[in-house]
Amino acid sequence: MTHKCNLCGKPMKAVDNIDLQGFKIHGWKCRCGNVHSDPEDVDTIIKFLKFMKTDREAKMFKSGNSYAIRIPIQIAKLYHLTQRSKLLFSPENKKLVIEIIPA
Ligand SMILES: [Zn+2]
Repeated sequence: MTHKCNLCGKPMKAVDNIDLQGFKIHGWKCRCGNVHSDPEDVDTIIKFLKFMKTDREAKMFKSGNSYAIRIPIQIAKLYHLTQRSKLLFSPENKKLVIEIIPA
């Protein structure tokens, strides 16, 4: 599906590098300089930023012989995490950094 520019009427190019508060989101760019952000991505980021102001704690639970971390849906959506996602732990002093391994 082509996305048309509302300023010049030409087809816009789909991009995935529009900056929104430090997050890269999908959208469309036109040669005339016009930029449209993907409203779904904007919505996801806004929900995430609201969420980060209030409830950032993750709960752990026991799963067999391991512990699992419950990842809130807002974070899972933002990082496109699924049940098949692979993660990499990088311990850092008092932090445990979780990196997403690209599929
Ligand atoms: Zn244009």
